[in-house]
Amino acid sequence: MAKRPILLLPDPRLRAVADPVEKVDDGIKALAQDMLDTMYDAPGIGLAGPQIGEMKRIIVMDLSREDEPNDPIVMINPEITGMSDDIVSTEEGCLSIPEVYYDVERPAEISVRYTDLDGNTVERDATDRLAVCIQHEIDHLDGVLYIDYLSRLKRDRVLKKFQKADRLNKKAG
Ligand code: ZN
Repeated sequence: MAKRPILLLPDPRLRAVADPVEKVDDGIKALAQDMLDTMYDAPGIGLAGPQIGEMKRIIVMDLSREDEPNDPIVMINPEITGMSDDIVSTEEGCLSIPEVYYDVERPAEISVRYTDLDGNTVERDATDRLAVCIQHEIDHLDGVLYIDYLSRLKRDRVLKKFQKADRLNKKAG
């Protein structure tokens, strides 16, 4: 197991489209484990490949409560195949945009199709926080960040904050 560095806004890799995974081999299984280790360590409830610079369509999540055993979910090549008209507004955050939280509106229920770590195709429905988390993570595979759904004013405020931090980091190091 290995923890990987998480890329932060405005790293351009967070804006790139990730490639489909061709085959669930040992390399992909090791990557999924690294992603889970990185997510649990952060700690966070979801992580997508591009967030650690792996431009592959793979996401990991765990929405279990603190007093529950871990419930890791790994989705390879996930695709949303259906969504409800019902919209839910949820406060979202992102490990690549730390310490920032905003409400985002998304469909409350979705259907998703993906490949699991055994190479099987799985179809499942998701509601509530899981539905929101899956949509947030799949967005990462297409270079979309949740701040893209905010008003321009709010989004620009977040971008400026992280651009400034990035400049200071580069100067310092
Ligand atoms: Zn995120």
